[in-house]
Amino acid sequence: MSDLSIIAIDGPAASGKSTLGFRLAEFLGYLYFDTGLMYRAITWLALQRGIDMRDEAAVSRLAEDIPIEVAAPSFEDGRSCDIVVDGQDITWKIRQPEVDANVSIVAAYPGVREALTVQQRRIGLRGRVVMVGRDIGTVVLPEADVKIYLDASAGERARRRHEEILQRGETADFDDILSKVNKRDRIDSTRDVAPLKPADDAILIDSDKLDADQVFQKALSLCKR
Ligand code: C5P
Repeated sequence: MSDLSIIAIDGPAASGKSTLGFRLAEFLGYLYFDTGLMYRAITWLALQRGIDMRDEAAVSRLAEDIPIEVAAPSFEDGRSCDIVVDGQDITWKIRQPEVDANVSIVAAYPGVREALTVQQRRIGLRGRVVMVGRDIGTVVLPEADVKIYLDASAGERARRRHEEILQRGETADFDDILSKVNKRDRIDSTRDVAPLKPADDAILIDSDKLDADQVFQKALSLCKR
């Protein structure tokens, strides 16, 4: 239906990028690649090894030395792919709150970004890919055929995150989630290297008043153009 082959989706935490990206990739028969998982994997590994997050050189060395395997999902448990590091399946471990709290610090290190961007670019340039992150349209794949910047207000994103947690039968404090979302946005958008921002040629979708289905239809119409 379309000869476009690289679709970049960027946006802040919990804006619905993964839901949109996964659905678009499934519909188009493309690879879905969530680059946030790679930053999470390095963060988890650093925590696991007791590395001080402020030790930029040690954290960067991890990103340079340790391969992160991203493979098609081997379980049907809601995952979009398998993340394997050091022979361990860490797909769900990288969702832990401790990783959430530290990932933006790790992602701000130029050495980490350089190591991961090279791998992401290599995968993206094979084409037929929907790549999701913060800097895909600006840095990783500026040649993308379609660039979408998916945004929503911090309050709405925190509300969705809160609801997800409650639906899993867990408890969470809304104000706490909101303050963490704001903190992550602030670090991601003010860092020196590859900050979160829309590419000049990105099309902005504001999902505050749209449900997941409406966002998907809007994005699909851009891919069909
Ligand atoms: O998308 P997700 O919330 O899983 O991303 C986790 C973190 O990884 C982000 O808050 C950001 O700090 C970092 N990230 C990034 N560049 C990307 C993808 C994610 O800096 N392309």
